[in-house]
Amino acid sequence: MKKILFTPGTLSTSKTVKEAMLEDMGSRDHVFVKAVKDIRDGLLKLAHVSREEGYECVIVQGSGTFGVESVISSVVGANDNLLILVNGAYGERIVKMANIHRIHHHIIRFEEDEIVSPEVVENFLKSHSDITHVACIHSETTTGLFNPIKEIGAICKSLNKVFIVDAMSSFGGVEMDMKELNIDFLVSSSNKCIEGVPGFSFALCKKSELLKAKGQARSLSLDLYDQWNGLETNGQFRFTPPTLSIMAFRKAMEELEEEGGIKAREQRYKTNKKILDEGMAALGVKQYLRPEIQGHIITSFLYPEKSNFNFADFYNKLNEKGFVIYPGKLSKTDAFRIGNIGQIFPDDVKGLVAAIKEYLK
Ligand SMILES: *Cc1c(COP(=O)(O)O)cnc(C)c1O
Repeated sequence: MKKILFTPGTLSTSKTVKEAMLEDMGSRDHVFVKAVKDIRDGLLKLAHVSREEGYECVIVQGSGTFGVESVISSVVGANDNLLILVNGAYGERIVKMANIHRIHHHIIRFEEDEIVSPEVVENFLKSHSDITHVACIHSETTTGLFNPIKEIGAICKSLNKVFIVDAMSSFGGVEMDMKELNIDFLVSSSNKCIEGVPGFSFALCKKSELLKAKGQARSLSLDLYDQWNGLETNGQFRFTPPTLSIMAFRKAMEELEEEGGIKAREQRYKTNKKILDEGMAALGVKQYLRPEIQGHIITSFLYPEKSNFNFADFYNKLNEKGFVIYPGKLSKTDAFRIGNIGQIFPDDVKGLVAAIKEYLK
């Protein structure tokens, strides 16, 4: 039976994207080298920037976390100081990275059901002039909220701080202009809103900042500058590349364009979200976040007010019907999550809501 993934990545991909992985591919094959080049140029275009304007794309093998860690551990130098903005598990993950790599850092923590406050960030930066870099999650997949990266980016720009954004679960599903948002490093991965399969992450980088990372990485495999330099000099990865994942991704990028680009995809995801919201509200299932800060990527739902609700059983029954949902990740509240991203369409969401209705009956 075909399973539909209502999860935040891995997610459902098209048959044609999977078919792009059927041919063995040598890492020095010109077809592969061309695919890597197309992807690197195409990703910059999706972020409304270009090499001519001083932006670069670095592909890093591994999942999304590898890309974030590559940026954090390469671009924040020994004498730099990183401010980490945290309101969920992915922000906490950056704190872990900073600790492991012994990076000087400050943390501002917000509640999981609150967005990062630009005013708080601004005041903090004004009273801590030693801070050089700021890291923030855009779509906090822990809850589904969107942090106000535009406002934070403007503050970073005015105070001359390097702005690093984990846009993992939103890039490709939300229009983002890197320049307008004042983002210096934007990280996402192959298996989120571009709708490819897992295998790599990518960092879109302001070149002037990327160049400063030369020789200051804290690990070999995650050296962002060296990875970029390798791709630049001979079009090759330094270590075995995820060849088939790359081929699938190039196909996925073509399909994104055929769909109508990020705008059209954003609209499809928003439509999925609307059907989900209305369907779940009709079933009396409450959302964790207030709607003003909720994004359209993934939603956290509180456990239904049913004394015998058992998530494992709920998950299994939906799974048997071909609907795969996601457990919660909140630190204090029981919840489950449903994503709107990937190859899922309004009828799929209606099918899921109908299956939930039947279960709750
Ligand atoms: C998916 C995701 C990541 C990366 O997670 P991986 O499991 O390493 O792919 C990082 N940040 C956010 C916000 C995410 O949604």
